[in-house]
Amino acid sequence: MPDDKGTVLTTADERAMADELRSRLNGEVIDRAHPAYDGARAVWNGLIDRRPAVIARCSGTADVVETVKAARKYRPVVSIRGGGHQVAGSAVCDDGLVIDLSGMKGVHVDPSARIARAQGGVTWGELDRETQLHALATPGGEISATGIAGLTLGGGFGFVMRTFGLSCDGLRSIAVVTADGSVRVASREEEQELFWAARGGGRGIGVVTSFDYDLQSLGPEVDAALVIHPFDRAEEVLRAWRDATESAPDTVTPELLLWTVPADPEVPPELHNVNCVMVSAVYGGPSGAEAKSALAPQRDFGPALLDLSGTLSYVELQSANTWRFPDGDRYFMKSHFMDELNDEAISVLVDWYSRRPTPDCLIVVRTLGGAVARVGPDDSAFAHRSARFNVSIDAGWQDPALDDTAIGWARSAWDAIKRFSSGGSYINFAGLGEDASELRSAVYGSHEERLERVRAAYDPEGLFAPAARRP
Ligand SMILES: Cc1cc2nc3c(=O)[nH]c(=O)nc-3n(C[C@H](O)[C@H](O)[C@H](O)COP(=O)(O)OP(=O)(O)OC[C@H]3O[C@@H](n4cnc5c(N)ncnc54)[C@H](O)[C@@H]3O)c2cc1C
Repeated sequence: MPDDKGTVLTTADERAMADELRSRLNGEVIDRAHPAYDGARAVWNGLIDRRPAVIARCSGTADVVETVKAARKYRPVVSIRGGGHQVAGSAVCDDGLVIDLSGMKGVHVDPSARIARAQGGVTWGELDRETQLHALATPGGEISATGIAGLTLGGGFGFVMRTFGLSCDGLRSIAVVTADGSVRVASREEEQELFWAARGGGRGIGVVTSFDYDLQSLGPEVDAALVIHPFDRAEEVLRAWRDATESAPDTVTPELLLWTVPADPEVPPELHNVNCVMVSAVYGGPSGAEAKSALAPQRDFGPALLDLSGTLSYVELQSANTWRFPDGDRYFMKSHFMDELNDEAISVLVDWYSRRPTPDCLIVVRTLGGAVARVGPDDSAFAHRSARFNVSIDAGWQDPALDDTAIGWARSAWDAIKRFSSGGSYINFAGLGEDASELRSAVYGSHEERLERVRAAYDPEGLFAPAARRP
């Protein structure tokens, strides 16, 4: 496959490509001179400052086909934008062409068939809002502003994943514009290898214009545990929580965060922004006595600062933390999969959290297993079916002067934890500036070669190679 540098377009070619796209697309074509250029090239992570030659805001599949055809002709570096939330900013590229689906917001729910079709620019909040009208859901991410596209194509961790699987497990089919400009539907029956790749290895297979998800009965209300413990008991709480995850039923998805208490009106002001251990868990089924009893062990880790457990709407649950990750702040993330969380690993996590450089840095431990592990190891491109935990180090800050310090903290914490890892990494939490080849092996493991074969079959000239090689 060609490398990911692509061709650096001449100014004349940039102009010709923009003009050609303008004559063919319904959506807007934004070049460097366009008044909306700076807004259109910005992504969620304020650390990213890339300057594409042209941004093609596609209004539908036909626009995507025309944009792919133009990319074949001019051969720029191509990036694809869904929700624009990948922390590495891979939705935008320098001097190339952004195939921007962020305006493709169509969602159609068929409640009797229990299927939702969502276009590539939809966010989780937008999808949940529509499916919840029918008390149906597909397992999504935990922050409502995140795009369904990147998240699903990379796997997809969420609050109910042990009950219903990863977001990519909820996929029934996808419509994708491949490098030859044709529109294909991939599912378990058609274009099976493409569908296999889309579930966890979907970077660089083409441009997915719509996702069909199977829907599960869930909501409109769900039960969740949320208990906030004092940070000085962090190691004790983590050890007890780890032990309790062993016996948690698949209906319960436990998560633990080393973070600060939110400055929320529900919380007494003296606790606002205080360091804490947050234990959360969601019951993936009907709200009621059975749910509360299944969640009870998650509320039993000793004296807490606050217990905010209760019943809330699924839409509210899915957007509860969104405000804590504002657009335009600076971010960096990195993660490890782990098969066990021993006492020493716990001490290291707590120690590194206490060294964090800003209050917006956190460490999240997610519990996998359940439905995630019931999918066969080779049934999808997602390569970490048997991992028990994912630990992510999430740095957040505002001041550009802190860039090196905050990124340095996340990298050092990740290095310190590495010896406890089972050796893999999660593409959706991959940070900036990582070695592309090391990252690919850590993410795709033994599936790397099969993925390369699929990509080469559908994209022999490497049009999407940059998207395949970056997070
Ligand atoms: C605040 C926050 C919370 C998060 N929470 C979770 C979480 O709970 N669970 C989880 O698993 N992850 C989570 N993530 C990570 C998230 O999964 C990734 O950032 C993901 O890439 C976001 O998807 P997007 O469409 O917004 O990304 P984008 O940045 O738009 O896309 C990322 C990459 O995906 C590919 N891509 C995007 N759209 C398409 C398309 N239509 N066709 C083909 N390829 C495409 C491209 O290669 C692109 O570079 C979170 C991220 C953030 C910033």
